[in-house]
Amino acid sequence: MAQRTGPPRRDAMQRLLHRFYEPLQLLWMLNPARGQCCPAPAAGEQSSDFLGRWRRFLDALSWLCDFEHGGKTVSSVAVQALPSGNRFWLCCGHEAALQHLTWMLSLLEDEELSLPSQQVRAISTVAVTTISHSGDKVKRYARELSRYIAKVAVPSDVELSTETREMLRALDQLASLSDAEELCLEAVAFAHFDSLNGVAEASIRLDGPSDWSLVKHFVVRLRSWHQKAAIAVRFAGSFRSLLQDHTISWLPLPPSRDMPPSDAKTNLMSALKRMLKADEKERVSDLCQAMEDLRSFNFDQVFQESYSSGRLSLAVHSEVFLLEHFHEEGLFFVQNDRYIGCSKPSCYCCSLYMRYHPGNFVLRPSHGTAWVTWSPPLLSNCDAQEIRQRNLFVMNRVIEHLRRDVVNEIEHRFARRRRQPDSTSGGYTAPS
Ligand SMILES: [Zn+2]
Repeated sequence: MAQRTGPPRRDAMQRLLHRFYEPLQLLWMLNPARGQCCPAPAAGEQSSDFLGRWRRFLDALSWLCDFEHGGKTVSSVAVQALPSGNRFWLCCGHEAALQHLTWMLSLLEDEELSLPSQQVRAISTVAVTTISHSGDKVKRYARELSRYIAKVAVPSDVELSTETREMLRALDQLASLSDAEELCLEAVAFAHFDSLNGVAEASIRLDGPSDWSLVKHFVVRLRSWHQKAAIAVRFAGSFRSLLQDHTISWLPLPPSRDMPPSDAKTNLMSALKRMLKADEKERVSDLCQAMEDLRSFNFDQVFQESYSSGRLSLAVHSEVFLLEHFHEEGLFFVQNDRYIGCSKPSCYCCSLYMRYHPGNFVLRPSHGTAWVTWSPPLLSNCDAQEIRQRNLFVMNRVIEHLRRDVVNEIEHRFARRRRQPDSTSGGYTAPS
């Protein structure tokens, strides 16, 4: 393989970005599903410790502000402790979430929520109002549920039991409901949930989620509006003082960016060479050969084409942007718990960023997927020397970790794993 090196990359920021996006692109091509880096919090409210419930409350509020499927409306919430009343910071790209959070928090602050009957009413109000903003998301989950029901209904080599066939009929009925509110409520009341849980558990695969676990996942997703509303309402009922005299601020996300432009150094051998330490450079040919043997496509060609396609729009993820805001402004967290709530488990890059950040933030649950469109959160502020230094400090450590993962993937020739869904799913006890 010819090795092109080209002239040196003189701009320090562009150099840093290339050092980051080259291994990220390779990891994306090799095996982007890195797996969960940190355990997801248990669904429901089994945990009696305050911090566990507080973090689930922040995640639930964030989730209720995320109206669309995919990454467009991902939202993060963290709370600044202030003597005059806590300030809820919402970071996302859509202003409608701010109005919804304002409405939810004022309901949770004003309502008398000490009695179970009052809580049931408030849970229903929050769930139904949020569902009315999230019609497309509900429809998408129902479509996905139907798709996976069809897959598990025709197994090639397994005879289905009578109980499983009955459950499939009930699942079909559920997925066919067209009214979003009714569909979500019926998912909460789904009588075969324990059986579904059992079948999903029995079908666990080595290489990622099974079709049965995805059926369960989408049923759990449809129950999520009531589940998240229950977490928020019950928490507010127990810790009302944390919401008293609160204020809300919106932190909009910065605009998306383009990939750094490819140059003569944008080729597989040159990128691999930069990833290796000075005394390891002779391994580059072996790694190149190993990559050629790994997959049926031409790695070098796909690497260069995707890097320079101009189609990739890079976005800052809300949890790390909010994290940097708290760090930069020196804001105090409620109970000094340095946790950033988010509507989704964090991705691979956000997890690494939090892990190597000097601010000692609490690591979030993570689905571990490496998104090639991830953007470092500080780029728009790097004119200031101190921020540029921090960006360099964190990103250098992220890059080191990323490079180790890429080399590990190549050397061990792991099979490509199925990606986990971005969202968590777990058991849920319906509000009584
Ligand atoms: Zn992320």
